Amino acid sequence: MEIRLPERAGCAGIAAAVSAARHGCRVVLLERWPTVGGMATNALVNGWHRSDREKMVIYGLVEESARLAEPQGWIRRDPQYPHAHETHWFEPEGMRIVWHRMLEQAGVRTFCNLAAGDPVLEAGRLRAVLCDTKCGRAAVTGAIFIDATGDGDLAAKAGAEFHFGRPADGRVQGMTLMFGLHGIDAAAVRAHAPQAGEAMMQRMRELNRQGAFPPFNDGNAAHYMQWADDRTLWNMLPVAGNPLDEEEMTRLTVLARERLVAYLELWRRELPGYAQARIDRTGFALGVRESRRIRGRKTLDADMVLGARKHPDAVGHGVWMIDIHDPCGSGHTTYTDHMQDRGGRGWVPQGQSYHIPLGMALNPRIPNLAVVGRCASSTHEAHSSFRVQTHCMVLGQGAGTAAALALHEGCTMDQLSLPALQTVLRADGVYLEDVPAE
Ligand SMILES: Cc1cc2nc3c(=O)[nH]c(=O)nc-3n(C[C@H](O)[C@H](O)[C@H](O)COP(=O)(O)OP(=O)(O)OC[C@H]3O[C@@H](n4cnc5c(N)ncnc54)[C@H](O)[C@@H]3O)c2cc1C
Repeated sequence: MEIRLPERAGCAGIAAAVSAARHGCRVVLLERWPTVGGMATNALVNGWHRSDREKMVIYGLVEESARLAEPQGWIRRDPQYPHAHETHWFEPEGMRIVWHRMLEQAGVRTFCNLAAGDPVLEAGRLRAVLCDTKCGRAAVTGAIFIDATGDGDLAAKAGAEFHFGRPADGRVQGMTLMFGLHGIDAAAVRAHAPQAGEAMMQRMRELNRQGAFPPFNDGNAAHYMQWADDRTLWNMLPVAGNPLDEEEMTRLTVLARERLVAYLELWRRELPGYAQARIDRTGFALGVRESRRIRGRKTLDADMVLGARKHPDAVGHGVWMIDIHDPCGSGHTTYTDHMQDRGGRGWVPQGQSYHIPLGMALNPRIPNLAVVGRCASSTHEAHSSFRVQTHCMVLGQGAGTAAALALHEGCTMDQLSLPALQTVLRADGVYLEDVPAE
């Protein structure tokens, strides 16, 4: 069996690598950071969405990861399940361990601390990826390559067409620095809830209007200030910019941490229960929601999401709403015309889900390249639904399995028998219903 290599190891890349390896491929995985997991582990983004608000419709490697995390208490189910979209909350440190174990047991050769560099193309196909190791330049060769970089780096460098940002001004969704605090006196906070939290929100808004307090996510902040404890990971600190600009990202990361200091200075002084609160941890990286979207054979759009559209090349289901965080960094959710037409709502109808098609990952120009995760093919609107981890993992598992079957069959991924692929995915525990005939 030839070597193939999923590139990069966020949740989507892990799903692709594990499924390809389990189906008999030799898999090499390159990850620029010291551990795998991407946003889920290194940016501390720790919520999963698996339910259509009536039943669970995402299984496969997502369910397997949850099962492996459960005995250690690294994951817990939302008490409102299945009526809430947010079905699970996990401890990023635990999920990091779970995923490294899964990769190892599947036989994936994982290289952390090693960024993938330039691609080598020959006759329109990818042949290798270059990387600079501690000991010099190396090339990783393969038969199929999967770009799971979140930014679509490999595909873009290989000349694949891509879109970036919203149509009006090319801005991508806002980013967030996730953080955790310790030393909160929960009893004191609860004793003054909700009045103290509401008063603090007013104070923060007023100070922000005067330019004396940084932006914050108005929809989330009150909830966190009143209900957080030492285990909570706070999703309320926005920054905006270009995730492809390293210098800007450095500046934004510093700015975000300064904003956290400003939050804490005010809360310690004025919010009951916070006098002793300190920074426990921050995301190793800024949480990036959106970057390049590599154009695939099929592009997921808002009508497909909101209309719960089904596809012959489905590899699983998606449930999350259209959820666009202000590209200008206010921390607010923004709505598009599409959603205004629907009463400003971006929800998939309750009890329904849309299909995630394999075509989102397949490249029209480079037949041995697949792109999975948040850089797969979608519009800016549809991306804001598809980008969630469970959905990225569904496509990762689908594409990793397709890559393995294509190697076995001696064909390209777009030539595969879809019913055969779907049979294998179901046997591997993927939930896949209502697939229309081609
Ligand atoms: C603040 C925030 C809140 C969110 N909330 C939720 C939520 O509640 N629930 C949810 O499910 N999702 C949420 N999301 C979205 C979700 O976390 C991400 O979209 C998802 O994790 C993307 O996964 P991925 O595998 O596609 O990419 P990533 O997680 O970005 O992984 C990409 C990986 O590729 C690596 N990489 C990049 N370039 C290279 C290179 N050249 N060489 C080697 N490695 C490379 C990176 O280091 C990284 O490990 C949120 C995102 C943010 C930022």
